Amino acid sequence: MSFLLPIKTTVYFNQYKKMDPASLHPRAMNYARFLTSVSAARKPSAIRMLTELQQRSPPSMISLAGGAPNPNTFPFLSCSIQMKSGDTLTFDKDMMKRALQYSASSGVPELISWMKTLQKDLHNPPTANYTAEKGQMDLCVTTGSQEGLCKVFEMLVSSGDNVLMDTPTYSGTLAALQPLGCNLINVPSDQYGMIPAGLKEVLSRWDPADVHNPHSTIPRVLYTIPNGGNPTGASMTTQRKREVYELARQYDLLIVEDDPYYFLQFDKPWAPTFLSMDVDGRIIRTDSFSKILSSGVRIGFVTGPKPLVDRVVLHIQASTMHTSTFTQLMVSQLLHSWGQQGFLNHIDEVIAFYSAQKDAMLSSADKWLKDLAEWHAPAAGMFLWIKLKGIADTQQLIMEKAVEKEVLLVPGCVFMINSSDPCSYVRAAFSLSTPQQIDVAFERLSVLIKEAL
Ligand code: PMP
Repeated sequence: MSFLLPIKTTVYFNQYKKMDPASLHPRAMNYARFLTSVSAARKPSAIRMLTELQQRSPPSMISLAGGAPNPNTFPFLSCSIQMKSGDTLTFDKDMMKRALQYSASSGVPELISWMKTLQKDLHNPPTANYTAEKGQMDLCVTTGSQEGLCKVFEMLVSSGDNVLMDTPTYSGTLAALQPLGCNLINVPSDQYGMIPAGLKEVLSRWDPADVHNPHSTIPRVLYTIPNGGNPTGASMTTQRKREVYELARQYDLLIVEDDPYYFLQFDKPWAPTFLSMDVDGRIIRTDSFSKILSSGVRIGFVTGPKPLVDRVVLHIQASTMHTSTFTQLMVSQLLHSWGQQGFLNHIDEVIAFYSAQKDAMLSSADKWLKDLAEWHAPAAGMFLWIKLKGIADTQQLIMEKAVEKEVLLVPGCVFMINSSDPCSYVRAAFSLSTPQQIDVAFERLSVLIKEAL
């Protein structure tokens, strides 16, 4: 698919300035309170630290350290990647050697610094200027945001913990969390995301004073997808975010802001993020390049208070060691050649594509499903969440009958805490199929629904 439309670009920076002044005083965070025993036991790897050091050393440094193989023995020489714009990304011999070698667990420095600047410019987080002890904003690269989420959960969630989330939610999050043996507690939500009054009600089971009791079951982690939710397409309003953040302060919660569809918000200005409101250093944000640059490069980011990002890096040290140096350097070279404005121009082209796809899906839904189903137009992302009227559970219809009719959708139960509960929804993605294919798919779905009723 090529994105060559000349599109006008306007940059909006989400600087969150309307916080009640009384709440602007950062609270002292005790990050040790949130760590699992696994995370607390993770020790820095001396060899990995030497790799970081080597990355920052002058060429005169002689390294007899580490177990890095000699890249002269590798069969690859150089590489050039043709861009759709006509430009070329070139890896000369030296760059190629670096790309094929181990690198720091936190990410390659030029990608980290580019991304930190972007985060500061887009979100202006209050934590950007804090000291490390106070929870200054930091960032590391992960192998997609999925790895970031898994590491964050490994760091924060123990067996028996109560974890708050609005459901239906991303099945990859359920897959990462459920085997940890935690209790997932649903917070009510609607097409505007998590409902603060619902969160308050759920939290009223506990006394905020219990945060000082290490034996209390009080939740410590809240997870949400604030934009273009997967599967619901729901986006949270700014007012709701403010209220949820205030409750998080009251109950000393960390908020995991999983925002891979941030860059796929159809309307400007983009919504202020939780990170932009984070006076305390209680937001851990996961970003992804999967939907805007490439899903196969596997590049995501964890942004949050330095003490927690440092710990995520320890988890990476002990597993993947680092995200592919090759893809990090490829993406970094592209971003540096584009500059921030070039990156945002590209995003505008991607948004124009998905917005047109969304409109096509909505008009086909109107045409074929009007009396058979209900849905809300998403403000971001790539999904339409459709409730089939009169069908209590879509599982069999979608997994058997729809497959026979050659239309693939995802049954709603996949996104529920308890996947065996009946669910009358289906998720339709408007990312890959053409408007014509979407139209035919919805026509087939309408026939199926009528047959089932
Ligand atoms: N979070 C959500 C809500 C998602 O929808 C996805 C991808 N489907 C991810 C995280 C993981 O994305 P990636 O690892 O490709 O960055």
